[in-house]
Amino acid sequence: MSVRLENASLKALSTALAAREVSAVELATLFLDRIERLNPSFNAFITLDRDKTLDQAARMDARRAAGETGPLLGIPLAHKDIFCTEGWLTTCGSKMLSNFVSPYDATVVARLKAAGMVTLGKLNMDEFAMGSSNETSHFGPVRNPWDTNRVPGGSSGGSAAAVAARLAPVVTGTDTGGSIRQPASLCGLTGLKPTYGLCSRYGMIAFASSLDQAGPMAKSAEDCAWLLSAMAGFDERDSTSLAHPAEDYARDLDQPLAGLRIGLPREFFGPGMDDDVRVAVEAALAQYRALGATTVNISLPNSGLSVPAYYVIAPAEASSNLSRFDGVRYGHRAAEYADLVDMYSKTRAEGFGAEVKRRILIGTYVLSHGYYDAYYLKAQKIRRLIASDFTEAFKVCDLIASPASPSVAFRFGEKSADPVQMYLSDIYTISTNLAGLPGMSLPCGFGQANLPNPMPVGLQLIGPWFGEAKMLNAAHQYQLATDWHTRAPEGVL
Ligand code: GLN
Repeated sequence: MSVRLENASLKALSTALAAREVSAVELATLFLDRIERLNPSFNAFITLDRDKTLDQAARMDARRAAGETGPLLGIPLAHKDIFCTEGWLTTCGSKMLSNFVSPYDATVVARLKAAGMVTLGKLNMDEFAMGSSNETSHFGPVRNPWDTNRVPGGSSGGSAAAVAARLAPVVTGTDTGGSIRQPASLCGLTGLKPTYGLCSRYGMIAFASSLDQAGPMAKSAEDCAWLLSAMAGFDERDSTSLAHPAEDYARDLDQPLAGLRIGLPREFFGPGMDDDVRVAVEAALAQYRALGATTVNISLPNSGLSVPAYYVIAPAEASSNLSRFDGVRYGHRAAEYADLVDMYSKTRAEGFGAEVKRRILIGTYVLSHGYYDAYYLKAQKIRRLIASDFTEAFKVCDLIASPASPSVAFRFGEKSADPVQMYLSDIYTISTNLAGLPGMSLPCGFGQANLPNPMPVGLQLIGPWFGEAKMLNAAHQYQLATDWHTRAPEGVL
């Protein structure tokens, strides 16, 4: 093989496995050894279990020996610790679930297992997926492999760091307001948040149910297409799952981009974006024009309201979803208490971190009698306006482009004292979730402000509902013409 296996595409790994050049056990061993050596610098994993992983890999080799084939058979991956995984600790980054071993697999996990993928371990994340920097995890912060003094983004920061450090070829993530796209951007990866309802939420620990979506994070758009094809699909156990026909997202990657209309929202190119991000994003748009696309100016007039609307709706749903963690049903229970109510309150006081408590308080407040209309109902109306803005915009363009994040990866502590500054990290990603649309981030250059460690910049593409194939095609064509997505942090290869 010309490429090293730890840096190979899924296609190359698949070919090597099919040709019996490498076995699933050998591949899993290679990644487990890398994790053992490199993970202490990044803290990307919460749980590892070498025996379980190698046992599963051996079963995949046996399936192949028995004649089974399949593009993903024997390829390892790791899951964000928000996905229930049978027999594995599933913590959601929280003390509350620090002793919770899931009795069943999330549908996404089950689908990837059925496709033959091997679980390397469970990935660190912001507590209950609330955060943009991975600083809220009970298991300590994740470090960005491009500069370990900087955050990897969040909440899927462990997922992003694992792929950036080549500790897993691909990973799962979840995105409620940007948690796949922002860490992908900050770590130089390609990550995709699908249309709401495309991937099952069954067994994915709920943060804000009307916004949460699972998606792939990988080095390239092609790898995302491979993983998404196996993750997506209707699930009768998720009442918000959509009965969309199965698609092979890798099928249309080679379409030329001539005639593609890319909308540039005025509101996403104004002040607030760092200069080094702007330079890289403008260069990416020039590249798209060179590939035959045209850019058109559009407007999303209500997008300025997306962060405030999100920080009413998401905490409201979270306050309801997190009421199940009461010391009775799952996980942590306070050791000493006077009576039942005292047990609930001590358990929750001990089990949840500060950011989670802040969200529960905000959510409880905006849902309370007397404030419901003023906050929650109002936010839902704004949400509808934001979705209509996109519907209008997609009348004149096929995809929308913007930066994924207003800045490159920031330093630890830089934003954690000021929640509003932290919340603004998702200013370009949140409206996509409010509208249920698919979005992705792909590497488009490096910010030059942090020399000698230039940090990755991500371009966001947003598609119409079920526009995943179109987005992936546009991302793949860009990646054929550029090599940003092939760069790896110094010292990992
Ligand atoms: N950063 C946002 C938040 O803290 C988004 C998180 C996410 O997408 N899970 O809510």
